[in-house]
Amino acid sequence: MRKNIVAGNWKMNKTLQEGVALATELKEILKNEKPNCEVIIGTPFIHLATVAEVIKGSVIKLSAENCADKESGAYTGEVSAAMVKSTGAEYCILGHSERRQYYHETYEILKEKVLLALANDLKPIFCIGELKEEREAGKQNEVVKAQLEGSVFNLSAEDFSKIVLAYEPVWAIGTGLTATSDQAEEIHAYIRSLIADKYGKEVADNTTILYGGSCKASNAKELFSKPDVDGGLIGGASLKAPDFKGIIDAF
Ligand code: PEP
Repeated sequence: MRKNIVAGNWKMNKTLQEGVALATELKEILKNEKPNCEVIIGTPFIHLATVAEVIKGSVIKLSAENCADKESGAYTGEVSAAMVKSTGAEYCILGHSERRQYYHETYEILKEKVLLALANDLKPIFCIGELKEEREAGKQNEVVKAQLEGSVFNLSAEDFSKIVLAYEPVWAIGTGLTATSDQAEEIHAYIRSLIADKYGKEVADNTTILYGGSCKASNAKELFSKPDVDGGLIGGASLKAPDFKGIIDAF
């Protein structure tokens, strides 16, 4: 079902103790609230099991930021989808532009990760979005179409329905530049039309599509007011509980 979601992505920030403190603070400030959206925090692997305990009994849900493209075995340093699931996480961010760019995650690798996440009952938050040069060349639609076709349009309609999409223009991530709400709406509507072409209108209408890229309390309300923007994937502004709460309050 389509939902409003505000999801944090802590990236490679916070020691375990700092992460526990942040999750505790967020739980505290949301204690007497009934947010009009689902609230998710995406943490580094090492935080997951401990943070899962911290947020028990709160509205906050937990996500990993990645998982391995292999099931198990001799892959030193990797963390499998089954391991992520065993911590209590419900979601797994996949295909973030930083993983595509710095760790060379291809469409094929991401296809495997999505399948493994789903096989282990994790809901992927699958990120797509174009580079600055691609936007300048007017290729953003082509880029997101290829990313969807390359990694998730192989899924059955039933499995695709378990995915949350996050449109994140790479030029807006961590740069302070935000897509205007009209730019966001235009491409979100296009993404929804691609889903409708592939899986039909009902699946498209039920897909949650988040916007990510320098989203903060001051611009969230405008972005979330657009009909095809169902919330945000938040990097920098998820690292301070009051900032993150300000975005949740935009709903
Ligand atoms: C992100 O990394 O997913 C992101 C949107 O980062 P920021 O909010 O810092 O631009």
